[in-house]
Amino acid sequence: MYRRAAEAAIGETISTVYAPDSWYLKRGTTADALSDTLVGETVVAARRRGKLLLLEVGDATLGLRFGMTGRIIVDGGAPIDELLYSSRRADAADERFAMTWDGGGLVISDPRRLGGVELAPDEDRLGPDALELDRRQLTDVLGRTSRALKAVLLDQSRIAGIGNLICDEVLWRAGLSPVRGADTLTEFEVALLSRCIKLTIAMLMKRGGSHTGDLQDERNRDGRCPRDGTALRRDDVGGRTTYWCPEHQR
Ligand SMILES: [Zn+2]
Repeated sequence: MYRRAAEAAIGETISTVYAPDSWYLKRGTTADALSDTLVGETVVAARRRGKLLLLEVGDATLGLRFGMTGRIIVDGGAPIDELLYSSRRADAADERFAMTWDGGGLVISDPRRLGGVELAPDEDRLGPDALELDRRQLTDVLGRTSRALKAVLLDQSRIAGIGNLICDEVLWRAGLSPVRGADTLTEFEVALLSRCIKLTIAMLMKRGGSHTGDLQDERNRDGRCPRDGTALRRDDVGGRTTYWCPEHQR
């Protein structure tokens, strides 16, 4: 959905860049470098790779990440300069990055600053995109390691695009334990998991984000499995808080 929003920028020539939050600029990217590189150049393409949205601007590649709370607003019509710099705007403080062009612009609003902006991101650090991953690739990724299943699914260098909430929802739907060794899955279980990854991501995108899963309301100390009513377990898996059902997730 981010890529679709960003496609509205294609063909526009950047007139200003607004990058007030240096913490949001990653891997050595600076506000000056962004202005020098982007101003006067035209957006020629938008593509997505996992959680990374890539904009080709002139000869440069701009990488945008949104974290859990970030959103992109692309406005082709309204005078966005006014919106941008107006203190009357309630969420102006959440604006981490913006570009404007004649008659419009693009704004990233991210209250929790979990996303980021960088020039020339290293795309090779990312594994194949979860939505494009086929069953054979998944078998290959999982079969090579005995690490916990969830830790492997979260590893962006192996599979790009699965965050913590999505991962718990996928495993809950697939009936697979997050702490199982990745290489212990049967062929049938890998096939099931492959389907669950795609269906779950598609469903959450349609509903409006990773926080819209069926498990979401139960992510607390009294949480119960929406399927069978069992008290959920709360564990640290792969460095992330994990909720899962010991009854039907095996
Ligand atoms: Zn259950």
